[in-house]
Amino acid sequence: MTNKPNQQDVAFGFRKVNEGDKQGLVNEVFSKVAARYDQMNDLMSGGLHRLWKDDLVAMLNPPKGQGAFNHLDVAGGTGDVAFRVLRAGGPNVRVTVADISPEMVSEGRSRAGTEGLLGRCSFTVGNAEALAFPDKSFDGYTIAFGIRNVTHIDRALAEAYRVLKPGGRFLCLEFSQVDIPLLDRIYDAYSFTVIPAVGKAVTGDGQPYRYLVESIRTFPKQEDFKGMMDDAGFANATYRNLTGGVVAIHSGWRI
Ligand code: SAM
Repeated sequence: MTNKPNQQDVAFGFRKVNEGDKQGLVNEVFSKVAARYDQMNDLMSGGLHRLWKDDLVAMLNPPKGQGAFNHLDVAGGTGDVAFRVLRAGGPNVRVTVADISPEMVSEGRSRAGTEGLLGRCSFTVGNAEALAFPDKSFDGYTIAFGIRNVTHIDRALAEAYRVLKPGGRFLCLEFSQVDIPLLDRIYDAYSFTVIPAVGKAVTGDGQPYRYLVESIRTFPKQEDFKGMMDDAGFANATYRNLTGGVVAIHSGWRI
């Protein structure tokens, strides 16, 4: 792959690729995994992703009464977080899912229909770096296991800030840096051997799962990501580690 003028190399897993090529490569990964995405999530995390997402939604705490709450779930894929937000909140909670992969969006939309939730959520194809929503239009913004896939994290954070209303909350759930000795080595061995092997056994192709694991290791550490949130203007940026830092939830507020 040759470098185009004015473009830099960025990480695509452990490979360096031209920044203009990264999103297309990411999209290929998700178009391949979309049909088995939910099943693979359970297999790879032993079901833990459900508890992590429950924690994320508990922190968001959408209103349970009659209060209106307009929520955006970016990189929302098959709707796992969106459905949790709807179930945790009252009848006037609405969720918009924006995800760049038409295949993931299509899986999500059909799940929403099956689960009887289409009336309160909508699925759209869109890029976290250039959201098609007006300024100050959402009360809450979540992104789960999505931001490490975007090419320019700073642009995604700026967009999150832009579309949130003043007082709106940003929450990001992402794989992070394990901070417990020994657990880090067990986790590494598991990630680089078991996950691609399970991916290959279930879907016939281990390569997309290798990317998913590698992209975790190249994502900024907890403090560094918090610094990026500060730079984007979020107030009270904080984070909480779950499962020894296997994942972290970062929180911040638009002012
Ligand atoms: N949030 C879902 C969940 O937790 O189950 C899906 C997470 S999945 C690992 C990552 C998602 O990020 C994929 O659906 C992918 O299409 C989406 N994605 C990747 N790059 C994106 C971008 N630039 N803008 C929006 N979505 C993106």
